[in-house]
Amino acid sequence: MRLILFGAPGSGKGTQAALLAEELAIPAISTGEMLREAVAAGTPLGERIQQVMSSGDLVDDATMGEVVRERLAKEDALGGFILDGYPRTLAQGDLLAEILADMGVELDGVLYLQVPEAVLVERILGRQRADDKEDVIRQRLLVYRRQTQPLVEYYEQRGQLTPIDGDRSIEEVAAALLEALGRKVDA
Ligand code: AMP
Repeated sequence: MRLILFGAPGSGKGTQAALLAEELAIPAISTGEMLREAVAAGTPLGERIQQVMSSGDLVDDATMGEVVRERLAKEDALGGFILDGYPRTLAQGDLLAEILADMGVELDGVLYLQVPEAVLVERILGRQRADDKEDVIRQRLLVYRRQTQPLVEYYEQRGQLTPIDGDRSIEEVAAALLEALGRKVDA
């Protein structure tokens, strides 16, 4: 399965990507996590993107394209993957299509976690990461609305979008995701 788990910051996509990855035995690929690791390790990439990340803005599309192309070429991703946090712009959507075409594989679907904005802010405030100060949260949500939200229509038009109500418990959302993938949920 080659999937995108799509949603706003705070929609629970990180948590759900990890659960789904375990269930499907494929890697969850979180670009945010990869970038945070690069910053923590002080790699050249990390030093270059530190400022952008801490302001709540997006790392440029070209850099992200390289990061994702390299990651998807790794052996553990050859049999499938769940993308968490990529794509985040229309240009990234186009580039991902190109990367997958180059690999000779196809996307199986985009699972879209829908959560009301008030709930998003509450959730992000609750988890308190370094890049989660309130003004940064607002900026992240603004960037999401302007740059990332258009991907909903993009994937809808391609018949690839499956909306899921993400304003429920972790277990309920996880079950709904599996159900959407057409799998039987064990009681
Ligand atoms: P996340 O953990 O997915 O919320 O990502 C944390 C931060 O990493 C974001 O606020 C961006 O600065 C950066 N980032 C992660 N994924 C991307 C992406 N696909 N495009 C641009 N920036 C990204």
